[in-house]
Amino acid sequence: MTSPALYNPTDLKGLAKQVKSVDWKAFWKALAIEPSKRIVVTTPKYFAALDKLRGKFKPAQWSSYFTYHLVQRFSFALPKAFDDQAFELEKLTRGVEARQERSKRCIEATQDGLGELLGQQYASKYFPGGSRQTATMLVDALVRVMNDGIGRLDWMSDATKQIAQAKLGRLVRMIGYPDKWKTYDFDVKRDDFAGNRLRSAAFEQHRQLARAGKPVDRGDWQMNTYTVDAYYDATANTTAIPAGILQPPFFGQDRSIAANLGGIGTVIGHELTHGFDDQGALFDADGNLKNWWTKDDAAKFAEKGSCVADMYSTFEAMPKAFVNGRLTLGENVADLGGVKMAFGAYRTLRKDAGKVYVADGFTEDQQFFIAVGQSWCSKLRPAELQRRLISDVHAPPKFRVYGSLRNLPEFGEAFSCAPGTPMHPAKSCSAW
Ligand SMILES: [Zn+2]
Repeated sequence: MTSPALYNPTDLKGLAKQVKSVDWKAFWKALAIEPSKRIVVTTPKYFAALDKLRGKFKPAQWSSYFTYHLVQRFSFALPKAFDDQAFELEKLTRGVEARQERSKRCIEATQDGLGELLGQQYASKYFPGGSRQTATMLVDALVRVMNDGIGRLDWMSDATKQIAQAKLGRLVRMIGYPDKWKTYDFDVKRDDFAGNRLRSAAFEQHRQLARAGKPVDRGDWQMNTYTVDAYYDATANTTAIPAGILQPPFFGQDRSIAANLGGIGTVIGHELTHGFDDQGALFDADGNLKNWWTKDDAAKFAEKGSCVADMYSTFEAMPKAFVNGRLTLGENVADLGGVKMAFGAYRTLRKDAGKVYVADGFTEDQQFFIAVGQSWCSKLRPAELQRRLISDVHAPPKFRVYGSLRNLPEFGEAFSCAPGTPMHPAKSCSAW
């Protein structure tokens, strides 16, 4: 998420004054592009530090530094000795024990370079026929539930609610795959893997730079079609749900509405709330940096958050290592909201259904909650779990499920958990 601290617009003259250690004319020339008149310096402190360091080291030392980064990034495309060293470093920093299979890494490299060409093949094979319509129907139901939910919030002022609902109305929903596929224009040579990597990186860099100064393309995808993830982009007020996540266990054309909303519905609901929480409050309906909350909205929202932070801080992820309720607060609030909205959408869509579908002895409510749990099945090595507890703004998967479901009273009712037990606590938290 973009933060206001990153938004420091200036012009070419201002940039030259602010960052003296870079020869900007030579920089643009080497990139072969005409610079945009408006430049945003995202990290002024970094450049101030760079100015100081520039003279401290000799050109040969800088050369080693940049060579290291280039080699590190392209190690897979270089002779084995380089790749082996890069892996040693990864072992130390990430706790991995085995290297990914060569075939998988080759596929990843192709995804990086020619993502939407692969995406077209993927969509035609794994996201056929009516999948897009079915997924769109679910998203539309969620948006309607969210719109009504905003109207009922007890912490948001009436004036702010109107702005929020108008913003929701402007949301662009990108479902499955792009309406218009990207084209690629660079040489791909069968016997030059490293060259292909360099040319594809240069092509993407130029594509990004060429967008500067032009109106925002609200149909641009920042994720590949087959990626198992979804996002909300506050700077464009768009959400993308790739075909890759519209698969079991998140979604299936042949699954019940309850199971689909418990799976993908929860994910989409989570993403949507980000457009309207304290982060989303910084950006207006068109993605411009403009706070539309009042001080009072922010204070009341923070109060709701305290309840969530305190609860998550009691979750013990490893012996004596607890979830950091403050670090993960924003994501946990979104999880709680996402599950609640997805459940509301499922109930709305099934409201007039004559008959309840029982599957393997589970009611539709139960199917919804089982799908929530199944979509987070995962296993982490202790070193990675430890790393994430300190640095990840998301709680570990297990607690994302426990935390969001214990705050929804319908869960306790669906599985007959006695009031006052861990999954049906007397006190629950809710911001959405
Ligand atoms: Zn999130």
